[in-house]
Amino acid sequence: MKKMFIYLLLLANIVGACAQNSNNNNNNNNRENTMMKFNKLTKAEEAVIVNKGTERPYTGEYLNTTEAGTYVCKRCDAPLYKSDDKFDASCGWPAFDDEIEGSVKRVADADGMRTEIICNNCGAHLGHVFLGERFTDKNTRHCVNSISLKFIPMKDDSFEKIYFSSGCFWGTEYYFMKAPGVVETKVGYMGGHKENPTYEEVIKGNTGHFESIEVTYDPSVITYGDLVRLFYETHDFTQLNGQGPDIGPQYLSNIFYMDDEQKAIAEKYTNLLLKMGYEVATMIVPATKFWEAEDYHQQYYEKKGGSPYCHVYTKIF
Ligand SMILES: [Zn+2]
Repeated sequence: MKKMFIYLLLLANIVGACAQNSNNNNNNNNRENTMMKFNKLTKAEEAVIVNKGTERPYTGEYLNTTEAGTYVCKRCDAPLYKSDDKFDASCGWPAFDDEIEGSVKRVADADGMRTEIICNNCGAHLGHVFLGERFTDKNTRHCVNSISLKFIPMKDDSFEKIYFSSGCFWGTEYYFMKAPGVVETKVGYMGGHKENPTYEEVIKGNTGHFESIEVTYDPSVITYGDLVRLFYETHDFTQLNGQGPDIGPQYLSNIFYMDDEQKAIAEKYTNLLLKMGYEVATMIVPATKFWEAEDYHQQYYEKKGGSPYCHVYTKIF
């Protein structure tokens, strides 16, 4: 695994180096995307990250953020800046007085005056760096476009995770993202045999993956047992061939446990249901690698509005 990581790093550096030698940014970007599986960019992101544009001042998402965490490259996810190094420069863009060591490369701007800053891993345009302005002790201001960044909040070690599948993951996520004590939800794929599965591959039903959800929760607010009950109360766990109108192996009901304690709690509620007379189709199986699904599937109903066609809340316990 470590070897693989080093190999990817080497590959990233080679591609990054190629990026600076080429005059054709678009071809370059396409080639990089094919080789490195960069995150897909929107037109607005591409205008800044690839074509070195500048977002309008005072409009960026991270202009005033102060939350603890790390700012990573929008295109390749490389960590670039720590929230501790962010300061208010009142200039209209996020400002940092230091970068994560080795993550940001300084190059002469095409304007012949300023110093451009790019992601050292993928060559993404970030903004410019200015020295000697005396904003902070480090006397350095990385003036960065919000759109070139993605913020990853610092993980609190006291949070825990639970994994389920219960049919179309849009509907599964709908109920969990609303539950009190749930810090974050992600939809993805678990249980299959293929690395990096895509949605198109999974819906064909032959990768072995289930449309799944990762729920990060604060155990001082909501317990594993509460979440298992919510899981059972938001889908038809007796259905054998899928969930609602969604038929196929990728829609089957599973609780993916991470340790014996989670397994015991899952079994406790499943046995309760059996005692109530339900024929439970849900499988309780060990968790395997969770592959995060494509961005457009995340928080689907929050983005789109409406409510699930395939999941309804029914009080049981
Ligand atoms: Zn990058």
